[in-house]
Amino acid sequence: MSAHKIGSLLFCPKCGTLLVLPKDGESTVVCEQCNHEEPATSYEGIEITTHSHPDAFPSALRQKRKTQTKRHDTGDHGTLVSEKCPACGHLQAYSKEMQLRSADEGSTIFYTCSSCKHGWRVNN
Ligand SMILES: [Zn+2]
Ligand SMILES: [Zn+2]
Repeated sequence: MSAHKIGSLLFCPKCGTLLVLPKDGESTVVCEQCNHEEPATSYEGIEITTHSHPDAFPSALRQKRKTQTKRHDTGDHGTLVSEKCPACGHLQAYSKEMQLRSADEGSTIFYTCSSCKHGWRVNN
């Protein structure tokens, strides 16, 4: 028994209910009315117009990861590190490394206390 095809639509062979198109990675489509399982292969040859662009998902994933990374350890404050604040003694501060002087002199790390927002710098 196979599903009835009308144009790009598939109907349940048992109860005639319109079946939804399978999502990416789904091998079967279940009828909402009678729970009949229709193999997704029945849809082969049917053009799924709602199908997303192949690149849409990976780029969305990349975008998400980029956003999370930015929020987690960079952003405006810098990276959260274990550093004692000289002003209040708090043990966590945001650090930002900056190359202000010439390369052979090393860099300067700017710290901002995550508790009192006191800022200080350390030369490497
Ligand atoms: Zn059905
Ligand atoms: Zn502090």
